[in-house]
Amino acid sequence: MRSFDPSQYITRLYVEKGCLDHPYCREIVARSNLPVTLVQDNGAPASEGAYPANLTRGKRDLFLCRNRGRFFKPCPATREYQCCGYHVLSIGMNCPMDCVYCILQAYLNNPWLSFFVNIEDMFGELDRAFAAEPDRLLRIGTGEFTDSLALDDLTRLSPRLVEYMAGQTNGFLELKTKSAVIENLKDLNHNNRTVVAWSLNSPVVAEREELRTASLDERLAAAQRCAEWGYSLAFHFDPVILHQGWREGYRSIIERLFQHVDPDAITWISLGALRYLPHLKSIAGDRFPGSRFFYEEFVEGLDGKARYFRTQRLEMYKWLVDLLCRYASPGTCIYFCMESDLIWREVFGYTPSERGGLATMLDDSLSRRRHLTRKRLVFFQNDIIM
Ligand code: SF4
Repeated sequence: MRSFDPSQYITRLYVEKGCLDHPYCREIVARSNLPVTLVQDNGAPASEGAYPANLTRGKRDLFLCRNRGRFFKPCPATREYQCCGYHVLSIGMNCPMDCVYCILQAYLNNPWLSFFVNIEDMFGELDRAFAAEPDRLLRIGTGEFTDSLALDDLTRLSPRLVEYMAGQTNGFLELKTKSAVIENLKDLNHNNRTVVAWSLNSPVVAEREELRTASLDERLAAAQRCAEWGYSLAFHFDPVILHQGWREGYRSIIERLFQHVDPDAITWISLGALRYLPHLKSIAGDRFPGSRFFYEEFVEGLDGKARYFRTQRLEMYKWLVDLLCRYASPGTCIYFCMESDLIWREVFGYTPSERGGLATMLDDSLSRRRHLTRKRLVFFQNDIIM
């Protein structure tokens, strides 16, 4: 059975007047079969009520518009914590799914979703970025300000991106999702330049706090299919949330992960304990009064975000890393997203800088995975010849 497609949640399209004749915009409008409201250039859709109370309704509205800023930027990491040297490709803003802990609720101040149709400018920026640093490996993700695949049945952006990346020699794309919208990735010439990634969580958290997402089994089944199509995979346990029975919950998803997926197909696994901007607590608290996880004990981190106490983070990380290491391939890079050297040393026994830096560790993991895939392909071809 096919899982819920989050793009089906959209019921209204808004289109910026100047985009109406853009071929890609016309393609999306025609595919959507939805009523269209025109918006003046540089204008914004009319929204009912005040943010964030109007967010639940606003997630049904999609605004097709131009990105007048930059598509491609270094990830806005914080100096105080170990950063992975990621680059963000901004394809749109906001998401039709609705996770209680979603940081976008506090980052954004518009209720609707945006999708940028001037993709010729996006590919132009990427061309220039790759040409400017031919000796640097650029890891690029589209999942920072939206979910990478949630609207893909409507936009069909992923085949364009994956095939563009297949022609690059110094870049990798990560498509990060909580959906199971993967059919557009089938039969593409991806040249192993795209990593398809899923966020995973304890079943209790996924069921209670991640609305309109694919179930964990659907995510894992989608991952398995992508691996069969030759894609590298990644998984993000982020945010790790303290809740009653957290050990059993995370054990169950980790065991299911390795029952479904070949460990050698996994390029990296990240872990990040819940952290949030202070005003997210009141936004999410008002929208989801039944959620309790914001009411644990937190401390303000060096980046101004609330985090669990270090002793609590250490307890959870040590337990999770120990379990992951029992199943994971030695070639998979297990790492922390935005954690201090202190935590790295206590959990892994080393800091990223002792291994050349986190960016190098992830780059090495990608290269190993490509090498492994090529070796398998040669082996497979020899097999056929013999
Ligand atoms: S899937 Fe990601 S982007 Fe979408 S609501 Fe959840 S956390 Fe936010």
